[in-house]
Amino acid sequence: MSLDGAAPTERQLQRPSAHEARQRLEHARATRLTQLRALDAAGHAPDDYVAAGQRDAIERALKEIDDAFTRIEDGTYGTCRGCAKPVPAERLEILPYTRHCVACGRRAA
Ligand SMILES: [Zn+2]
Repeated sequence: MSLDGAAPTERQLQRPSAHEARQRLEHARATRLTQLRALDAAGHAPDDYVAAGQRDAIERALKEIDDAFTRIEDGTYGTCRGCAKPVPAERLEILPYTRHCVACGRRAA
């Protein structure tokens, strides 16, 4: 028994369903919103650059999450922007809002 030569359609079945992807993105969004609230509750000074940097990073992630929801709607979710190949399911589990596969993500970083 071997998976060698599996048809592309079979491989695509391993991609997360839109429902699964939405759940992961909802979870990722809730986590970021909690972080944002915690940051606000801590009441940092306006010139606290560390807190400002954290806030920026969280807001960027929230924007990425919103974009990922849009990609689910238009059917491009899980497709790498860099090489147009499917992003591995394991990667989408860890980073549900990523738009790049591992190789392209490394290049973009
Ligand atoms: Zn890629």
